[in-house]
Amino acid sequence: MDKVNSITTRWNGLHISLAGRVELCRAVITPLLHYWTSVYSLPAAVINIIEKRMRNFIWGHDDINLKMHGLNWKKLAAPKEEGVREVIRSNSRFKIGNGNTIKLFLDPWCDGNFLSDFYSYRVLHRLSRDKKKNIGDFIDEGQWNVDLIPVELHQFFFQYNIQGGADKFYWHETHFTFKSAWHACRIKIQEVFWFNLCWNDGRPRWSAYAVLVLQNAVITNTYLQQKGFSLASKCVLCCKSIESGDHLFCCCDFSWKVWMSLVDICHWILQPFDSIQALALDYALKFKVNSTRTKFYRMIFTATLYYLWKERNARLHNDFYTSPNDLAKCVFWDTMDILGVCLQYVVSGF
Ligand SMILES: [Zn+2]
Repeated sequence: MDKVNSITTRWNGLHISLAGRVELCRAVITPLLHYWTSVYSLPAAVINIIEKRMRNFIWGHDDINLKMHGLNWKKLAAPKEEGVREVIRSNSRFKIGNGNTIKLFLDPWCDGNFLSDFYSYRVLHRLSRDKKKNIGDFIDEGQWNVDLIPVELHQFFFQYNIQGGADKFYWHETHFTFKSAWHACRIKIQEVFWFNLCWNDGRPRWSAYAVLVLQNAVITNTYLQQKGFSLASKCVLCCKSIESGDHLFCCCDFSWKVWMSLVDICHWILQPFDSIQALALDYALKFKVNSTRTKFYRMIFTATLYYLWKERNARLHNDFYTSPNDLAKCVFWDTMDILGVCLQYVVSGF
């Protein structure tokens, strides 16, 4: 706990971006947590506190600066400590050796299920009245002892092979890994169509903001109003409409001019949309296949969302204005900078 505290306190002073904070948690704190949980049995309360620290660090929230969390933790990380026992049970299997360590009634040795999942207590009563019996008590010289097992259970027992040697408990068909355990434990979130669109080869901060935009988690005025803050301000880009995610990144006159400038520069077709989700869907379908060309366009998409948000903040906090055309040029050249090559695009007027 002290280690996590000292790490987050040290980093807090460095003014790291949102994407940087996510990456530091992923690359530094999460492996630490994996190491500790592989050596010690950490109480769920401790894991919850560490997760809270990571959550607060990601959103820049502390005792002095109270910050809003744009995305809930389940969506951001989604590990699930509760019910781990159930997860382990459903993802693990027993290999029956001599049966001396497997409890007949108390262990889920039937492909992850208990014997009582298949038979009534009336039937199981005839098998044994001792709840603590081991499977080994029904094995004789490496075979099921048919004299001790009721006839109606013979077929069921015989489907489980007795391997001999020590009993084993294993994870699925393969070796246990934290990755497979994490995938088994985590709350499954519906897959999103924009995954490849957002997580491209561009700058990590572009991807991080694109995800926030598409999750409707950017803290716009409408977002704040939904959280109970009363605001009367309008979009700083066009000074006309109320600022929402869809407006700011898609429907705003200013934003649309930026998109259209990029259409001119990068030679593709874009029709007007009334939501950023619709625009992203069109984009994802258009640039579905993996190629250098589609990589470039996906990067343009995330960079545009990031630069629009940056422009909004520059106007709001620094009174600094950039024209739609200049902003499109910034998006284009920053993307080209990453690609490191001059593609065959003919850029007129640059
Ligand atoms: Zn606007």
